[in-house]
Amino acid sequence: MPTDTERRSRRAGGRPISVSFEFFPPKTPEMEATLWSSITRLAPLAPKFVSVTYGAGGSTRERTHATVARIVDETRLAPAAHLTCVAASRGEVDDVVRGYWDAGVRHIVALRGDPPGGVGQAYEPHPQGYASSAELVAGVRRIANFEVSVSAYPEKHPESPSFEVDLDILQAKVDAGASRAITQCFFDNDLYFRFLDKVRARGIDVPVVPGILPVSNFKQARNFAEKTATYMPEWLASRFEGLDGDPETRKLIAAAVAAEQVFDLVDRGVTEFHFYTLNRADLVYAICHLLGIRPPAAAEGPGVAAGVAA
Ligand code: FAD
Repeated sequence: MPTDTERRSRRAGGRPISVSFEFFPPKTPEMEATLWSSITRLAPLAPKFVSVTYGAGGSTRERTHATVARIVDETRLAPAAHLTCVAASRGEVDDVVRGYWDAGVRHIVALRGDPPGGVGQAYEPHPQGYASSAELVAGVRRIANFEVSVSAYPEKHPESPSFEVDLDILQAKVDAGASRAITQCFFDNDLYFRFLDKVRARGIDVPVVPGILPVSNFKQARNFAEKTATYMPEWLASRFEGLDGDPETRKLIAAAVAAEQVFDLVDRGVTEFHFYTLNRADLVYAICHLLGIRPPAAAEGPGVAAGVAA
């Protein structure tokens, strides 16, 4: 009997499936405890990397550093630090990048970031800062041989006048040294594949890793989708209908919906996934389990942190 892993791998054309997890820096000791229990739970799944976001306008700078540093010190996971161009001079950004290299970090997710005046305002670069994400990618690569990932938008960036402009910018980021794009979350896989066709038609050949957001709080997800102009299919809304006061059932539905999305992507050849964990392990752990991604047999069981240093 083939195992789940073999079955999925066969569906993915024999190529192994890999995952990465995104976290955000915690604000309070309680949130820190939740984050670390999630990291401990997910670490044995041996993600390719775990990334830590950078708050809008650099608002989480210290907390992002502290979280990344703790991952380096206390786990065997490969951290990727998000970094934006917003509200900082090149010198300040370069110091941060050098600090990461010295701390043992080898992967940066390089972003322009949202306009300092808030989403919807025109983007104004810092007068002495990196003016664009492509410039930041080049700057990071000049400092050291970092792996650099960047963003991609299957439904177009909300500021973008056209897909062509988005593709120009993605091309510039790859030309500057980015080796992976991670997408904004999406709920309609056809939109991802249409975008991927455009990317490949342009001759951009880096992996375009789908960003998967398991939705358990539908209202919250819909607000996020509205802000980021992400299409929410009607069928998705209907799956959560009548469950506002029933978080337990919502969680079961959330796992089923996200698994359905991921399996469809696997069936259509995708082998790498980036999960927006929202610092919670349970849904992502369940989806990975269904994908055949399990802790090593010897370390099996909740809370056993094979990827966490003793
Ligand atoms: P870019 O890829 O540089 O540009 C995005 C789009 O903006 C372009 O495609 C284009 O449409 C338009 N644009 C940019 N420059 C120009 C120009 N010169 N002329 C015309 N149009 C232009 N935000 C955070 O604050 N912290 C994070 O940690 C963070 N992590 C993210 C991770 C991922 C995987 C993704 C997808 C997004 C993340 N974001 C984060 C959000 C991101 O900062 C915002 O979407 C921001 O508005 C754009 O940054 P970017 O690097 O994606 O922009």
